[in-house]
Amino acid sequence: MKSERPEKPARHPRGAHRKQAPKAELRFEGLGVSPGIAIGPAHVVEGGSVHVPEYNIEPGKVEAERARFAAAVAKAQKQLGKLKAKSANLPGAAAEEVGFLLDAHLQMLTGSRVVRGVDRRIAEEAINAEAAVQAEISKVAQDFAALDDPYLSARGEDIRVVGNRLIRNLTLTPYTAFKRLPPGSIIIGEDLTPADTALMDPRIVSGFAAMLGGAEGHTAIMARSLGLPAVLGVAELLGKVRTGDVVVVDGDEGHVIVNPTARTLEFYRGRRLEDEREQRQLSRLRRLPAITRDGTEVTLQANLELPRELEFAVETGAAGVGLLRTEFLYMNREDLPDENEQYEALASLIEGLGGRPITVRTLDVGADKLAYSLVTHLGAGANPALGLRAIRLSLKERPLLETQLSAMLRASAHGPLRILLPMISSTVEVRQVRDVLARVAKRLKRRRIKIADPLPPVGVMIEVPGAALAADALAQVADFFALGTNDLTMYTLAIDRGEEQVAHLYNPLHPAVLRLIQFTTEAALRARIPVSVCGEIAGDPRFAALLLGLGIRELSMAATALPRVKQRIRELDLLAATRCARTIMDQSDSGRIATLLDDFNTLAR
Ligand code: PEP
Ligand code: MG
Repeated sequence: MKSERPEKPARHPRGAHRKQAPKAELRFEGLGVSPGIAIGPAHVVEGGSVHVPEYNIEPGKVEAERARFAAAVAKAQKQLGKLKAKSANLPGAAAEEVGFLLDAHLQMLTGSRVVRGVDRRIAEEAINAEAAVQAEISKVAQDFAALDDPYLSARGEDIRVVGNRLIRNLTLTPYTAFKRLPPGSIIIGEDLTPADTALMDPRIVSGFAAMLGGAEGHTAIMARSLGLPAVLGVAELLGKVRTGDVVVVDGDEGHVIVNPTARTLEFYRGRRLEDEREQRQLSRLRRLPAITRDGTEVTLQANLELPRELEFAVETGAAGVGLLRTEFLYMNREDLPDENEQYEALASLIEGLGGRPITVRTLDVGADKLAYSLVTHLGAGANPALGLRAIRLSLKERPLLETQLSAMLRASAHGPLRILLPMISSTVEVRQVRDVLARVAKRLKRRRIKIADPLPPVGVMIEVPGAALAADALAQVADFFALGTNDLTMYTLAIDRGEEQVAHLYNPLHPAVLRLIQFTTEAALRARIPVSVCGEIAGDPRFAALLLGLGIRELSMAATALPRVKQRIRELDLLAATRCARTIMDQSDSGRIATLLDDFNTLAR
């Protein structure tokens, strides 16, 4: 459902019948992270009021709670610092104005009365950090308001905004569910998290844009999965768009246009029609196999972020689910899902797949994928991407892992299921998981609960450079490999995949990344275990020739990307692709590699 007009405007007050001048069209540039054109009324999300949990802290845990608060303050300072750096590019006086405001917010977080007050409340009253922030902010804001000075009472409002930022950082609370919005709405926010994106229903929301965020973070991946056009890293949007303004999001080119003129609207409506026409053409490929011109079949599966994507994945002709990210089960809630809930979610997916296989990954929270129900487990590491995340968390918190494995084993009785382990860096971790799996299976059998026999295959994500380099050893303990090229690129090049300031340096075509992909693939082929690619490059037709040429025959991607990749594979000649891959692997410069690949893609059609 797509509607482009905002809700009926409020009636003008008496005497204000003069025709208003049309608002000027504003254009902004960002990173186009999810393709397509969206046109609709803006819904600008503010920090807003967030739910504040309140509880007491055991005496032994007070220090940890203070550290959690300190981490939330550090995160807020980082967010404001980034916004400030970006706001320097704003035109004219706007840069100064926004800069002042952000500076004021930064000051409130730096050794201020607010920060000291919250810290003291946690220590003296033994309450959780969110409750302490709430109490301190109310007190300080009230004191300001009581001064009866318009300037200072405005500062009281700023303090509330800063408090909400802290609470949101602490609770990892998403913005309010995007439910009661006009259909076709475009969400505009400062920093939309994967959990925020998970709440966007494509029947109501038609696209989104945010001031922060990079192309390979999970917010971007979620947008592609849901088929929502999105542009991230558009810092200049700050304060330039209001709820109700008509907005165009061009996810192909990375443009955001506010208050488009009639001509601009006509242009983008045309583009949207072209897209729809192309989609209709691609849908004809649904029943055709993904087979190269010289007869090599490639398995194309879907990555699933949320269960509601399954129907679409099956519709597009996916041969199964190559990566189920189970994080959805833990998002946007305060408690943890129990075994039954997990089992039922998996069993219903297996049923929906009608015999097609599913690869279920154990929990991969940490770094940009966070869940409030797990904050106390995750702690506040200085370097979350290198900290307690993914399999490391599962092996430390055994009940979490046992519950997941038990649910997966029970679901395995309903259809073909494989278990996939994220962020593996050594064979020891795989052996430890196998031990837990054997124990859980024994327990289920004792209770006469049906599970697959033999046990489901256990595979390893190759996404840490060390794992790729030790692929021969890992192939001895793993039943299959899944190349996670998103993290593999990030860790190999030391580029945060979700950080817009270094997004231009993130490059899976870097020779170091390609060598790790090649090394892993060859190790898998030697050990005769299946190997797939499930990072975002699998869903980009540009990479198909190279990956096939390196020996990959299984790709898993956002279902929305599948038809284009299939079309590309059906145009390819495997022999020529292999030759192209060989030439590319002899290169040392990623620019040259990109040119070779693009030339091959243009010529070999
Ligand atoms: C990857 O890292 O490539 C991957 C598929 O996992 P995720 O994107 O969920 O980290
Ligand atoms: Mg990963």
